[in-house]
Amino acid sequence: MAEDYLQLDDVRVSFDGFVALAGVDLTVLQSDLRFLIGPNGAGKTTLIDAITGLTASTGLIDFSGNRLDGRRVAQIARLGVGRTFQTASLFEELTVLQHLDIAAGSARRPLSLLRRRRGLPSELGEVLELIGLTDRAATPAGVLPHGEKRWLEIGMLLAQRSRLLLLDEPVAGMSAAEKERTGALLQRIAEDRSVIIVEHDMDFMRAYAKSVSVLARGRVLAEGTVAEVQANPEVQQAYLGTPIPEPVEGPEPVEGPDQVLAGREA
Ligand code: ADP
Ligand code: MG
Repeated sequence: MAEDYLQLDDVRVSFDGFVALAGVDLTVLQSDLRFLIGPNGAGKTTLIDAITGLTASTGLIDFSGNRLDGRRVAQIARLGVGRTFQTASLFEELTVLQHLDIAAGSARRPLSLLRRRRGLPSELGEVLELIGLTDRAATPAGVLPHGEKRWLEIGMLLAQRSRLLLLDEPVAGMSAAEKERTGALLQRIAEDRSVIIVEHDMDFMRAYAKSVSVLARGRVLAEGTVAEVQANPEVQQAYLGTPIPEPVEGPEPVEGPDQVLAGREA
């Protein structure tokens, strides 16, 4: 089977004349764990919105030979592109397994939907195992700790058979232990899929990024390994005067750009 790829060519988005994306070129190959960073307002979320069909754009967006631009959100999801949002998007009352079941339903063929279900489909068992929530299958999502909620959202993308996962600030508000488990989970997922993560947590990026794209004012400013991007003077310039990571919930103090980009060791 051919390898997956995502290719963006001159992708532009405007909101009432305000240019949020000013011509983005981006290529992400299968098994990449790509971090998308950039100052607040750079267009990171808009880029994910454009890829997933939530925001109209111009230019080319191709996933493994299928044009995504111009398609509807549900069609793009069926082509194997899934995303999570900056804020949690779960049903408080539904259990972990019910969430996975609903997500899987959108990927299941009509014929298998008609078949009587006996027990847990092995596919969902594997997803539960992967996201570490096997013991939580019957727990309502509303009472899960923060980290487990985010893992369930990722699990839903796996249940709907996403080949490319787009995650918007997945570790915001997580404890150090939760971040570590999330990093390990994303590495497992990226073994045979592609992952793009918008993230402000530079320590997390350093620990888990396979590659990095830096977005500033709607353009890709730099791309490469963590070391390459950190050494890039233009990247340092783009962050000057901008507090990164952005203040998020949680006990960690906000770091200044100097420490962050100089590769301060904890
Ligand atoms: P990031 O995720 O990098 O912080 P966004 O993609 O959310 O940035 O936003 C990029 C720019 O586009 C910001 O200046 C933001 O205010 C603007 N923007 C985003 N969504 C809309 C919208 N729906 N209408 C108008 N402006 C928007
Ligand atoms: Mg954003």
